[in-house]
Amino acid sequence: MSKRGFRIGIAGLICLAAIVGACRRATHNTNSEEETMNTTTRPETMEFPAIPDPVVEHLVFYCGDPRCPLAFEGLPQKLGIPPGRYTKVCTFGGSAPLAYPKQRPHDYAFLESQIRLATKHFTALTTVHVISHPGCKYYAEHGLGTDEDTEKEARDLRLIGDTVVVIAHRDITVKRWRSRFTNRGATIRIDLMEP
Ligand SMILES: [Zn+2]
Repeated sequence: MSKRGFRIGIAGLICLAAIVGACRRATHNTNSEEETMNTTTRPETMEFPAIPDPVVEHLVFYCGDPRCPLAFEGLPQKLGIPPGRYTKVCTFGGSAPLAYPKQRPHDYAFLESQIRLATKHFTALTTVHVISHPGCKYYAEHGLGTDEDTEKEARDLRLIGDTVVVIAHRDITVKRWRSRFTNRGATIRIDLMEP
């Protein structure tokens, strides 16, 4: 091959590489655009921010009563605890089974395992929050209270708190929150109970 032919050959290869690179970039851009478009237009595909390196200091137990999520899920934010510093366990009845190990042994065991798991893996955990609300369907369903006794759920928080400390088996603070429906059920007031 002559020197000229060699140069033309090299130039051709460079051109070809540039074209292939451009095509690859175009394909990649198209895919990225498609992905962005899909996540914003297809309701079955969504993307949310993750919380990298969370350090959990607070664990919140609350009931899944559909009247309460705005209040109970909003509690950490009201307390100034940022995402990543807390996590939550939401079940029907919330922490109530911890007051009824004999009547609700399976539910008690489940919550016990949740607390053990949390204390094992969240080494920075210092505080557990338990929240009650009156008229809890868990109590009605399992005959744990009466409709007339609207204080039962709140009274149980004392025993629940003591039980959490025993299960956690380490220095931990339990904050007991009593909630009440106010304004004829339009709002929920949450009060911290005395230690
Ligand atoms: Zn409830």
